[in-house]
Amino acid sequence: MTITATMITKFFLIFLVAKSLIESWLESKNKNHIIQNRNEVPPRFQSVISLEEHQKAADYSVAKIKVGQFFSIFDFALLLLWTLGGGLAMLDRFVSTFGLSPIWEGVAYVAVFGLINTLLSLPQSIYSTFVIEERFGFNKMTPALFVKDMFKGLILGAILGLHLFAGLLWVMQSLGSNWWLYGWALLTGFQFLLLWAYPRFIAPLFNKFSPMDEGEHKDKVESLLQRTGFTSNGLFVMDASIRSSHGNAYFTGFGKNKRIVFFDTLIKTLSPGEVEAVLAHELGHFKKKHVIKQLIKGVTFSFLAFFILGKLLTWPEFFVGHGVPILKTHLALLLFALVSGVYTFWTTPLGAMVSRKYEFEADAFAAQYANPNELISALVKLYKENASTLTPDPTYSAYYHSHPPALIRVKHLETLAN
Ligand SMILES: [Zn+2]
Repeated sequence: MTITATMITKFFLIFLVAKSLIESWLESKNKNHIIQNRNEVPPRFQSVISLEEHQKAADYSVAKIKVGQFFSIFDFALLLLWTLGGGLAMLDRFVSTFGLSPIWEGVAYVAVFGLINTLLSLPQSIYSTFVIEERFGFNKMTPALFVKDMFKGLILGAILGLHLFAGLLWVMQSLGSNWWLYGWALLTGFQFLLLWAYPRFIAPLFNKFSPMDEGEHKDKVESLLQRTGFTSNGLFVMDASIRSSHGNAYFTGFGKNKRIVFFDTLIKTLSPGEVEAVLAHELGHFKKKHVIKQLIKGVTFSFLAFFILGKLLTWPEFFVGHGVPILKTHLALLLFALVSGVYTFWTTPLGAMVSRKYEFEADAFAAQYANPNELISALVKLYKENASTLTPDPTYSAYYHSHPPALIRVKHLETLAN
């Protein structure tokens, strides 16, 4: 049996509709579960979280779900318009009137496409930031900063993304049938370069990083680093509070260029002992090799993606079936990037499951090198400050969440404490 373009179109539609149905079913299930549990704080948290705080978290979660549901209809329609609706092909007819060489034509194409998509995504980001985050008191962003961030993002995207894209197009057009292997090597090299450059050159474009102030917080953190034998290139506090009051901590860079970054909002909220416990958890991810495993996973997936794309390029029906009747390398790359999510959506729960397993392991590490009760109280404070729901729907959580639900995680930490 030969697979025709019409069959591919049907296949694509089935997958796309099934994905959208499952997504909206999970979202409504989660919304209903949160609403049903709105009037009672789960017993374990009753002494630390008030009913008012619990209800704020429920309302905030529900508001975010509703916005997501509305815009996902928009995204569904947009994907159909770009693909089967002929949008990608139409844009190609427009860009080919510029009379450029194949590679420059591809770069111009992706620049116009990127610009259109940025404009189309504006309503959602404006609404989320200035209506939802604002209503719940999290937004600290001014319209001026929002516009500045957008332009910086566009310029950075143009400098980094367009060069990478031009390189990929050159590889595809010049290196014969094994191009996909070189393309993958190029992308991987680029990703490592970004990983190295991010803490030094990119992140400082958006935020200020200051060395951590002397004091009890720093003493605790430094003694923990010594106990765990972790070397880093410095402890920094980032002025996250200029945009949002949500708190966090993370590592960036690799090798000797590792930095530990705390959001200023986190330092303000947590006691020195709690900051120590949170950092111990993050160090756990590093020491248990989760960071390197995720990196290897990412590189392996992109290897597979390039291999598949290499095969697909010799099969025009695939592109015709997705609404792109002209086989040009830049169109192939873009189409592949646009539709691959429809087919990889089904692996989401697997990735989430692995990630939750890592969270338990990092908590176990934290319990060994810091006080697990401090980690519990830090988690409770973060749930409270971020108005995160304590009662997500279990199915929803199993499908998407990279972290275990609060109650399960706290119970696990309590067994570690004893
Ligand atoms: Zn973690």
